This record gives sequence, C-alpha cells and structure tokens, in this order.
Amino acid sequence: MEKQVIPINLGMVKAFLIKGDKEYILVDVGLPQSFDKIKKFLIKNQINPKNISLIVLTHNHLDHTGGLMQMKTLTGAKVLIHKTEGDYLARGISTPVQARSLLAKLIMKLMKEPKIKTFEADFLLEDDFSLNQFGVNGNVIHTPGHTVGSLSVLLNNGEAIVGDMLSGKSKRNYTIAKYPFIWNDISALRDSIKMLISKGAKVFYNAHGEVCDDMAIKNLLEKVKVRTNI
Ligand SMILES: [Zn+2]
Ligand SMILES: [Zn+2]
Repeated sequence: MEKQVIPINLGMVKAFLIKGDKEYILVDVGLPQSFDKIKKFLIKNQINPKNISLIVLTHNHLDHTGGLMQMKTLTGAKVLIHKTEGDYLARGISTPVQARSLLAKLIMKLMKEPKIKTFEADFLLEDDFSLNQFGVNGNVIHTPGHTVGSLSVLLNNGEAIVGDMLSGKSKRNYTIAKYPFIWNDISALRDSIKMLISKGAKVFYNAHGEVCDDMAIKNLLEKVKVRTNI
C-alpha cells in the first residue's frame, strides 16, 4: 500500500497531512502552541503552505483546533468541520463530552473550560464529503462517538485518520487499540469504528497514540463485547 498520510508529531497530539495529486490536505492543527511546530515541519519537508488547500477538523476540541486562525492565514485553505461542531466553534465553546470514569470526571473538573477563539468554517458537513476535488481519493465521514460531530477521513487505500475516536499503545511488537479517555456516546463510537472497518479502513491514525491496524481494532471491539456480557 502506498501511504498518503504523513503524521506530524506535535507532542501530546498529532496533526496529519494527506498528499494529493498536487495539493495537500491538513487534518487538525494541534494546540495553540502547535502552529510554529507545523510551520517548521512544512519548511523542513519543503512543503509550500499555499499548497495546502483544505483543513479538516476532526472535532472542536482545543488540542485539534488550536492554531486554526493562524493556519488559515498561512495556507489560505478552506476549513471543513461537522455542522454541530462548527456551531460550537463559531460560538467559541468546546464541544461537550462526558467523562467515562471517576478519574476522568475529576480531571475534567480540575481543568478549566478552554478558551476557544470563535471561528466560522467554510464547509459545515452533514453527510459524507468527497475529497476528489482536492486531488485525494477518499472521503470525510461523520463518525460520532467521541463528540456528536466527530469526523474521520477515510482514503481509498485503507488509511483512516480518526481523531479522538481511538488511541493506540505500543507493546513490544504489537499495538493495542484503546477507547479515548472521554466520550459523548460509547455505543455510537463503537458503531462508527465498525462502519469504518466495513468501508475498508485498515490503518487507523489516532491523534493521541500509536497507529493501529484493523486487527488491533477488532480485538478492542471483541474485548468490550465480552465485558458487557458479564
Ligand atoms: Zn477530543
Ligand atoms: Zn484530542
């Protein structure tokens, strides 16, 4: 498989570039302080920011939308987000989630509500969105679960960028797929994973962890099925 996804490691989070025929698509922009890191990455890899024609936001959390305004100015790219997330983004509010454990609840309580700058996206997605017009064989797909309007990018070659839907942890010679720390709806999240697999996803790029293959994902789905049956 010829890979088209280029991960940009920003520390606690990743952004991703997708190489199209002539242009690039950027998926997520990291934290506010990630802007300089992305800029440096582009310079190092001799990618002209003006060749980035689209910015896809997997969802409206500050570790994914941080340097959005600066990135938009640098690239001149159009910005795409799901309609629900876009409504929160336009109001400067982080999309709400529920904590999945007592620890997560405590951490959420301790964290202040992040200040998001208001931003009006160019494309507000309701259904699937083809990336063909940007020279990329793939689609942006609505994959709710982590948040109501979470999106994934699925390329025809089986590479999927899934934002906070999953995370991956490296073991000695394999990777374990895990659910995110916080979510809005776990059953919707599981359905979204299954849907991506049914549409041909083979490699899952997560914003907060290692890349997972479809076997790791299938193991994760099985594990929870066993647990819920007890
Ligand atoms: Zn998130
Ligand atoms: Zn995140």
